[in-house]
Amino acid sequence: MKGRIHSIETCGTVDGPGLRYIIFMQGCLMRCQFCHNPDTWKMSDGKEVTVQELVDDIESYLPFFQASGGGVTVSGGEPLIQTKFITELFKELKKLGVHTAIDTSGGCYSKSPSFRKSLDELLSLTDLVLMDLKQINPERHKTLTGLKNDHILDFAKYLSEKQIPIWVRHVLVPGITDFDEDLYKLADFIQTLSNVERIEVLPYHKLGVYKWEELGYDYPLQGIEPPTEDRVNNAIAILNRHHRSTASESMI
Ligand code: SF4
Repeated sequence: MKGRIHSIETCGTVDGPGLRYIIFMQGCLMRCQFCHNPDTWKMSDGKEVTVQELVDDIESYLPFFQASGGGVTVSGGEPLIQTKFITELFKELKKLGVHTAIDTSGGCYSKSPSFRKSLDELLSLTDLVLMDLKQINPERHKTLTGLKNDHILDFAKYLSEKQIPIWVRHVLVPGITDFDEDLYKLADFIQTLSNVERIEVLPYHKLGVYKWEELGYDYPLQGIEPPTEDRVNNAIAILNRHHRSTASESMI
């Protein structure tokens, strides 16, 4: 089976536990204003690879990952657009005893029986989901990403029902996702989930702006600076207020 990927990082340290082989899948339904990978958006870009090609490459790094308690993370773009391909990949990785993680925005989640069937099979092979919760406020979420957030919150609830461990991730952007009222609501929503292992605050940065310029896209967050250390600590404190998990700072 073939999938479409954007790129591979062989020594990731922030997208899951331990050292990780990270596969950035091609294609995304969202258009987040802070996206640092806009070159993953178009499904027609990137390159085709087979499951076997990826497994062969991953196998050469296995001793390093496994010694560190790491594994493989599929990120994006939005990996769940290519659920069937990732399922076939994870089947092979599970035969090798590899820890598997998916980094997703949940933007393509749907309750349709066909999607649920594919998703359930994939989740049965998934050890961890890195779940982006970008904005709890529905209007601000739509402005930020182009999509509403109700189905994304449904996806988080579904993962809780299925008891799939998740790390919640929240990108903190001044004036966009950094309002105390929203952070408190997000903390209250997270409290309703029973599968949260960790909450991460990812301070907004501008490292991907050059890609927008190269692609000829107008960068919508022009003039917005990364959050101050105080605001990052404030978000960590609010999201951790229910003490159900350990909130920490990480990188996008
Ligand atoms: S979901 Fe991720 S890849 Fe897609 S637009 Fe948002 S930040 Fe970019």
